[in-house]
Amino acid sequence: MSGYKIAVLIKQVPDTSSKAGVNPDGTVDRARAKKMLNPFDKFALQKALEVRAEHGGEIIAITMGPPPAKEILAEALEYGADKGYLLTDKRLAASDTLATAYALYSVVKYLGDVDIVFTGLQTTDGDTAQTGPQIAERMDVPQITYLEKLAVVDGKIHGVRVIEGGVQKLTTSMPALITVANSAKPLEHKRFHNVHSVKELLRNEEELANKIFTVNLDDISADSSRVGLVGSPTVVGKTWKLGEKGGSCALFKGDAVSVEVAELVDKLKADERGIEELVQ
Ligand SMILES: Cc1cc2nc3c(=O)[nH]c(=O)nc-3n(C[C@H](O)[C@H](O)[C@H](O)COP(=O)(O)OP(=O)(O)OC[C@H]3O[C@@H](n4cnc5c(N)ncnc54)[C@H](O)[C@@H]3O)c2cc1C
Repeated sequence: MSGYKIAVLIKQVPDTSSKAGVNPDGTVDRARAKKMLNPFDKFALQKALEVRAEHGGEIIAITMGPPPAKEILAEALEYGADKGYLLTDKRLAASDTLATAYALYSVVKYLGDVDIVFTGLQTTDGDTAQTGPQIAERMDVPQITYLEKLAVVDGKIHGVRVIEGGVQKLTTSMPALITVANSAKPLEHKRFHNVHSVKELLRNEEELANKIFTVNLDDISADSSRVGLVGSPTVVGKTWKLGEKGGSCALFKGDAVSVEVAELVDKLKADERGIEELVQ
């Protein structure tokens, strides 16, 4: 194969325009929620398409999730990806970012010789922005985060990343991992050059079998003790619905900010509910 082997990580997230339910224990009811491709991942897909358009190669979309996550792989094909891999396994349930990054890293390793891994900046559900950098650390490759623009010249990636108040230019060798900023170029309209539509592809089992591959932890030789609840050191202390608490609003007006802040601190100290509850 000439050109570059490019992996793009995409996640199926609850559709924020629909009402995602919340379970009694505070976790998202993912089964009931309408789902969509994480909007941030479209920027990553666009960058992969740009590199392939200029240098050739193949784009492999990867997702970890339950079987319906296949839908976003079909969507990625519709946008122009060449193949999709779904990592699905009951043992992955309750994975935190450490476990998720390990699982996704294991898929990339299984594919072998990947030159560039693109990820979105963050997801609209977990929203941690930790997954990409953790995968780069596991792969032991350089990473460029918040990338807005890039040019690949003589096997090197020249990237422009967004930083507070400006941009930073970085050059790295390959393989490398890149998280793409949502200020980067948006994904162009669907090209339909691979398939006609997501629904059509999902109905066409023969085509699906050639383009979307489903793997489990054993297929990719991943250690099941490093995923799921057992592989996840994160403990979620408490969750609550935004706005559920209601509450009142107070304005502090003084001659100087220091006076206003002092007034606020006095008010907080005097409140019998305690600082922990007040700052939530
Ligand atoms: C204790 C705990 C239990 C959890 N249990 C569950 C659970 O049972 N089920 C569940 O769905 N989530 C669960 N989560 C959430 C899950 O850990 C995160 O969604 C996951 O680690 C990714 O983190 P993030 O969503 O913050 O992604 P970010 O780090 O914000 O995402 C950055 C980028 O990484 C890539 N990426 C992230 N996740 C995926 C993915 N799955 N596939 C492909 N690419 C991806 C995308 O390119 C994305 O743009 C749990 C979290 C915790 C802390």
